[in-house]
Order: sequence, then C-alpha cells, then structure tokens
Amino acid sequence: MINIAIDGPAGAGKSTIARKIAAELGYVYVDTGAMFRAIGLYMVRLGVELSDSGAIADKVSGADVDIVYKDGTQVVMLNGDDVNGLIRTEEISDAASKVAVVPEVRKKMLTLQRDIANKHDVIMDGRDIGSAVLPDADLKIYLTASVDVRAERRYKENIEKGMEADLEAIKADIRERDERDMNRSEAPLVKVPDAAEIDTSDMTIDDVVKTIGDMIRKL
Ligand code: C5P
Repeated sequence: MINIAIDGPAGAGKSTIARKIAAELGYVYVDTGAMFRAIGLYMVRLGVELSDSGAIADKVSGADVDIVYKDGTQVVMLNGDDVNGLIRTEEISDAASKVAVVPEVRKKMLTLQRDIANKHDVIMDGRDIGSAVLPDADLKIYLTASVDVRAERRYKENIEKGMEADLEAIKADIRERDERDMNRSEAPLVKVPDAAEIDTSDMTIDDVVKTIGDMIRKL
C-alpha cells in the first residue's frame, strides 16, 4: 500500500488539498482531525470537563468511532450515527484539540488510522501522521502558512457557509490551538526531518495540489 502523510497546523489547507489529490490519484483520503472531533463531540455531549484528562480517559472506551465512505466522501460515525454535520463548529474544534492531548484518546485513534492505512493507498492528514501514525510513509509533507493567512481562510470559509465569523477571534483560536498542538507531550505537531515543508501562504490550492501530485507521481 502507498501511504502519504500530510501534517501541519490548523488552516494550512491540508484537508482541501489532500482531498483533491486523493480524488486525482484514486487514493483514499483520511481526515484524522475528524476522528478527534468525533471524540470531542462525544465528551461535550456527556458534559465531561475538557480539562479533566482522567475523566476523558475513562469515558473514551464508550465512543465507537468509525470511518465509512459514501460517494467518495469520508463520513465519521460516532456510535453508529453520521456526525459529519456536527463536528465543524468552533466549539468542537476546541474540544477536539483538548481531547487530543489525552494519551488514551490518541492510542485509540492511532490503531484505527493504521488499520485504514494497511488496507488502502491513503493520503492521511493530521498532526502526527509522519511522526507517529505512519513513520514509514512513502512521502511526508509538512504544510504550513502564516497565522494571518490561515485565519483569513477560515473566516472566508465560515462566511461562505453562512456561519458567524469574527476574524480576530479566529486568529486567537488558531494561535491557541497551535500552541496546544505543538506543545503537548503526547505526539505534538512537529515537522519531522524527512518531511518536505511547503508554505502555502502565497500559493493557490491548485499550485499546492500540483506540487504534491508531482512528488507522488515520482515515487
Ligand atoms: O485537523 P482538524 O482541525 O480537524 O483537527 C482538530 C484537532 O484534532 C486539532 O486541533 C488537533 O488538536 C487534533 N488532531 C490531532 N492529531 C491529528 C489530527 C487532529 O491531535 N492527527
């Protein structure tokens, strides 16, 4: 199986780009952030205090997360229900990055992610794919962009979806999530030495898709 790992901070364009490349090359796209979001949703629903790692570790066994594909789109199932429409809010973004610091949560997600990568040619995006989930990936990409550019992208996305958006609040949220994702002790976001770094601040989506697509075609 061919495994491509794309890591990077929130808003660098990972999911848009990975989805397009996967469609072009016939790979399965795996959005690992969606899995952490499903766990975040589960904990929010239970009313678990998100700073209480012990409580999260205790409850995670009750969250059965699964990934299925409907018409080529990844659907995240939480205890049998499609939760795709519920996990993209700011509340769940925040909850996902809080539950993601808990080792028991990461262990469960890692097993699920490796299972998928063993069965399919995948483009998997996340924070620790090249460093922890697929250390032997055929290609590792570290996708990044400035905080300002990432916040503006998220702002536009929210406006297009008809959601409320406040640019300064989004910037603050991105900084806070970067800080938590990069400084946690368990599988922090890092650029591993064998990853190719691409700064997408001044690139179009198509430019990035072409750059990475060319790297994959050369494998
Ligand atoms: O990529 P996305 O923004 O959907 O991820 C939500 C959160 O899940 C991230 O802020 C991060 O804390 C966590 N995450 C992670 N490891 C991954 C993917 C996501 O810790 N592989």
